[in-house]
Amino acid sequence: MPVIKKDYYEVLAISREADDQTIKSAYRKLALQHHPDRNPGNSESEEKFKEAAEAYSILSDPQKRAAYDRFGHQGVQSAAGFDPSNFDISDILGDFFGFNDIFGSGGGGRKRNRPQRGEDVRYDLEIRFEDAVFGMTAEIQVPRSELCDRCSGKGAEPGTGATTCTSCHGRGEVVYQQSFLSVRRTCGHCGGSGQIIRTPCTQCRGRGYRQMQRKLKVNIPAGVDTGTRMRLTNEGEPGPNGGPPGDLYVVLKVKEHAFFERQEYDLHCIIPVNVAQAALGAEIEVPTLEQPHKLKVPEGTQTGAQLRLRHQGVAHLNGHTRGDIIVHIEVKTPAKLTRDQKKLFEQLRDTLPADNKPAEKGIFEKVKDYFA
Ligand SMILES: [Zn+2]
Ligand SMILES: [Zn+2]
Repeated sequence: MPVIKKDYYEVLAISREADDQTIKSAYRKLALQHHPDRNPGNSESEEKFKEAAEAYSILSDPQKRAAYDRFGHQGVQSAAGFDPSNFDISDILGDFFGFNDIFGSGGGGRKRNRPQRGEDVRYDLEIRFEDAVFGMTAEIQVPRSELCDRCSGKGAEPGTGATTCTSCHGRGEVVYQQSFLSVRRTCGHCGGSGQIIRTPCTQCRGRGYRQMQRKLKVNIPAGVDTGTRMRLTNEGEPGPNGGPPGDLYVVLKVKEHAFFERQEYDLHCIIPVNVAQAALGAEIEVPTLEQPHKLKVPEGTQTGAQLRLRHQGVAHLNGHTRGDIIVHIEVKTPAKLTRDQKKLFEQLRDTLPADNKPAEKGIFEKVKDYFA
């Protein structure tokens, strides 16, 4: 079931201009209010707690926040979606509750300096019907953070260095006593990095990353369909602290065709013929995705008859064969007749047997199958 995601700013009840401190205290308020320890068994609180954690995890990260501001949920969604079980709540709550100590995970501040794999990125791409059938090379532009080339991602202006943080002595966290708890807190002075940059890089303002538009070529093989996911290895977000980059997932949406409807590898279309063509048989021309094809309509063809053009459908993904075009014949009764035509029909009527018994019910199902 698709879930409509709430706006992260709404979740935290803050304005889009809110500064880091406001974001933090808004989250803190909600986290305290809805914390599972305080609301045992309350699933609504649990949901709110998770929503707030997710919102905070994005808005507290300048890179992710910038991506979210520009592209909405799309911009920060990992291909797998937000998974609260992967989200280390103690990392955030450690700052407020001293959870690192309670859960014994410890070293919350240090963890920030470990190389981590970059996030996976999802990119939705809409392509033409024909391009899905025959394949194509698409050029896309993906917003992505890239290591700042001026400071090589260090965040310091070239020629200047970082000095060890005097508040935490380079440890990235400070420990202090609060009532009976020993609380370990990310060092507020250096933001947990253990280092202070005296002269931030002028290009990235000390962040080490820049938001870039990256142009990529995507080879779309013949036979893809809506929902086909293509993975571009290492084209996701860069990994923090020198970790490997994530992957980019291109998710396809194929536009509708004017008259072909695709079912797996076959293409269906409805072609009208008149009563004379249906009764006597005819050769008609059927459009395909390439050249029009001649198709023989046999004598005595009924509405709903299915005729096949072999191997004119969609190429099988990773295969050499193609599906078929299936033509659904629709016999059209003429609605306007000239005087002469009317006479001919009247002669016809007098010679044709009238058989007006109700048909078996089954045929409705067969017709509905396709025209539904
Ligand atoms: Zn820089
Ligand atoms: Zn520090």
